[in-house]
Amino acid sequence: MYATSFLLSHYGDRVTVDVVERDATPFGLVRSGVAPDHASTKSVTNRFDGILADARVAFHGNVALGSDVALRDLRARYHAIILAHGADGDKRLGVPGEETMPGVYGAREFVGWYNGDARCAATLGATGRDPVGARIVLGHTACVFGLGNVALDCARMLLRDADDLASTDVAGEALGAGSGVERVVMIGRRGVAQAAFSPKELRELLSLPNVRVRVEPPGHVEGLDEEDAKDLDASRPRRRAREAVAKAAANTAAADATSDRPTKELVIKFLRSPTRFESETGDPDGTPPMSPSTPSVRVTLRANALEGASGSRRAVPDASVAEPEVLRDVSLVLRSVGYKGIRVDEDVPFDDENGVVPNAHGRVLTERGGEIVRGLYAAGWIKRGPTGIIGTNLRCAEETVGALIHDDERGRLREVCEVCEEEEDDDVALSLSEVLRRRGVKVVSKEGWARIDAAEREIGRMAGKPREKFVDLDEMLRVAEGADARAVD
Ligand SMILES: Cc1cc2nc3c(=O)[nH]c(=O)nc-3n(C[C@H](O)[C@H](O)[C@H](O)COP(=O)(O)OP(=O)(O)OC[C@H]3O[C@@H](n4cnc5c(N)ncnc54)[C@H](O)[C@@H]3O)c2cc1C
Repeated sequence: MYATSFLLSHYGDRVTVDVVERDATPFGLVRSGVAPDHASTKSVTNRFDGILADARVAFHGNVALGSDVALRDLRARYHAIILAHGADGDKRLGVPGEETMPGVYGAREFVGWYNGDARCAATLGATGRDPVGARIVLGHTACVFGLGNVALDCARMLLRDADDLASTDVAGEALGAGSGVERVVMIGRRGVAQAAFSPKELRELLSLPNVRVRVEPPGHVEGLDEEDAKDLDASRPRRRAREAVAKAAANTAAADATSDRPTKELVIKFLRSPTRFESETGDPDGTPPMSPSTPSVRVTLRANALEGASGSRRAVPDASVAEPEVLRDVSLVLRSVGYKGIRVDEDVPFDDENGVVPNAHGRVLTERGGEIVRGLYAAGWIKRGPTGIIGTNLRCAEETVGALIHDDERGRLREVCEVCEEEEDDDVALSLSEVLRRRGVKVVSKEGWARIDAAEREIGRMAGKPREKFVDLDEMLRVAEGADARAVD
């Protein structure tokens, strides 16, 4: 959306932009990633609505690059292509039971589930790993691996009272699902001086009412060594995060001395890594329960020590701790150790190691440090990797569109048109819409999205929410085509 906006501003009436989006709905992680209780963050969609409504912009939703349409189809039809397909994979912990145990999920799945992401619902239903189909059972005790902002979102969504979420756009399935959660354990392989969370989001979690905070190992936050101190000196956000953790732990100690103890608990465990997830009988393949029931996972952790100089401290097994730590009867395990970009089209150059499209300031390269691929650009997480907030993508898109304009002014985009002749594409005279129609792709147009949007808002309004998202793709496609949402419902 930001790249589109920069193109419209610069070129005026001389440009049209076709947005090709895999989902039936626009706005990527702003819709399906940003937490429902962060409504002000999500309100950036008001700006995106305006960009999409522009007459020079077309929307081709439910069209995936790499399967419904190939890069070569696009290169034959457009002067320039900007890849902005985000980071659609996630990093793994690499321990037994991670892929197979019921109750163990990637944060991506959990976030998609509470955000009513249709693709996520379809995947959950299809894996059979989930005891009740497309629903995640949260149970009483959750472990979240990772100490970044996504992990904070997950922990907050698990611990927040349902009443606080009722007026958000949280998925209907997820609302109230956490009412039984008593304990969330956040686990990081390194220490408080290396944690990636931002202080504001951390404070939001730590100040949830009715939640006591415990920090482990005891004394960790106070007893940092010289290299840790340098890590803290180098980063104000980390210093603030450390202060917030120390303060929350002190508040808990004070509250524990009174009779008014909070009923829920957040444990932040530093310097721990998982070594296996298994059933209580020691089976890492974890036989899925036959009936809807709460998973029970045994989580084994090893203690870590840190080595290396400040700025590059690594977690290694702590030889002084002989016995592993075992957490029993964990009902939900979330892996939140980072997203990763994936290759979506065989003709798009890809840097597998870093999970990004290789580029120089947004110009796509044949490989890392390679030649420029004319007319092909990248923006957002697929360009830089999965870091940064929404606003970071504004500057990122500006840089990319700046490179595109610079190339255009030197006549470097027109050569793209020669590619179509080289590719001898007989259908090249056909528009993208016509190509997709002939391929039988059910495209969601701008008008289709407007119908989905209106129906979601209307259904939400009746429930006192900003919107109730459709989580079934077929249902969404029917609404996009004009079916009455209430009849569909
Ligand atoms: C859980 C979570 C919470 C976050 N919370 C916040 C927050 O509170 N505040 C904040 O500022 N930032 C937040 N962020 C970061 C923010 O969401 C990202 O910076 C931003 O969304 C990245 O934009 P993007 O366009 O690169 O990727 P995305 O937003 O992921 O958009 C990529 C789009 O490409 C589409 N796509 C994927 N593959 C294809 C394909 N093959 N063909 C066509 N289309 C495709 C996707 O469907 C998606 O719509 C959060 C991120 C996550 C993961």
